[in-house]
Amino acid sequence: MSTLTTSALLPTYPPAPVTFVEGDGVWLTDTDGRRYLDFAAGIAVVSVGHRHPAPLTAAHAQLDRLWHASNLFATEPAAALAVKLSDRFGGAQVFFCNSGAEANEAALKYARKATGKPGVIALEQGFHGRTMGALAATGQPAKRQAFEPLVPGARFATPNDVDSLHAAAGDDVGLILLEPVLGEGGVIPLNPEFLAAAAELAASLGALLAFDEVQTGVGRTGSFFAFEQLGVKPQLVTMAKALANGLPLGALVVADEVAGAFQPGDHGSTFGGNPVICAAAGAVVDAIDDDLLASVRENGARLAAGLEGLPHVVEVRGAGLLVGAELDVPAGPLVDAALAAGLVTLTSGPNVLRLAPPLVVGPEHVDQALGIIREVLQ
Ligand SMILES: *Cc1c(COP(=O)(O)O)cnc(C)c1O
Repeated sequence: MSTLTTSALLPTYPPAPVTFVEGDGVWLTDTDGRRYLDFAAGIAVVSVGHRHPAPLTAAHAQLDRLWHASNLFATEPAAALAVKLSDRFGGAQVFFCNSGAEANEAALKYARKATGKPGVIALEQGFHGRTMGALAATGQPAKRQAFEPLVPGARFATPNDVDSLHAAAGDDVGLILLEPVLGEGGVIPLNPEFLAAAAELAASLGALLAFDEVQTGVGRTGSFFAFEQLGVKPQLVTMAKALANGLPLGALVVADEVAGAFQPGDHGSTFGGNPVICAAAGAVVDAIDDDLLASVRENGARLAAGLEGLPHVVEVRGAGLLVGAELDVPAGPLVDAALAAGLVTLTSGPNVLRLAPPLVVGPEHVDQALGIIREVLQ
């Protein structure tokens, strides 16, 4: 049991029954020395596993050279990481910040500056962050209500409902912002037809199409970007969670075809693109190779197949190693029971169990996790 004193922390999260003190690959260790299989990865963040040697070595080396120079001076690690992301995207420029919410704030501002239009179409159940702009585009009333009025202009379509997308259209729309798989809103994959309709609508409105790949990016779904498997290429992509394997880093990726809207003075961040963090992220991006992506697809399929047919499982959804099991019971108690049994998992909404392990899990870890889930679902 945890003896950690948390009373001086603002209670924005419920108290946790364990305190983790060490991580190693797909394993976490608590204050009592007990080991847990990590199928949460710090909310889809620790992509290549705890203390992976490549980002660890890269961050150590950079710690010994230069910690910070500010963005008044671009640093070698940030410039090199931008080139890697541009190559993966297929021609882009990158703005670095510190989180997913900040990446989406940058996208909101970029679209406003590029189009001159304030309207945003986002999705019901979507999640884009907790800051006032990102929250305004988050389609979850419970997270918004206490903080209204938010930034005006956002309206919401229903995931995978093309008619609702058209109903949300208007001359004022400068941005359509979507998660390819809704990560916080129940693990809902968007289908290629809906995404193609969104791209067409954006083009006809003179709006930019942005994919929030904060959760789906960096190999999570079995390709570096989720959009690679979906037949639609957005003009803006936001990234964060897995990019630096747990060090804070966000990014706005702007396709070359829509470059030029931001000029010096339009946007910024003191810490964004920190050289230590970008050095680690460069090693993470290099580690996401074809072999690892194939393993993500295989182990994701194994995990999804194993969840099908378990008691209380109504539907299994997701892509790669972002897997949701919709239950006919609340998911919270199941997450608690799994933790007590040595497996760290997540929810996604009230009755979806979400699994997002480090991308380096093997079939033996998947089978072990499935065994524990089967046990606690009885
Ligand atoms: C987690 C998440 C965010 C917010 O990221 P923070 O780093 O917590 O600000 C935004 N969008 C999506 C899709 C996310 O999963």
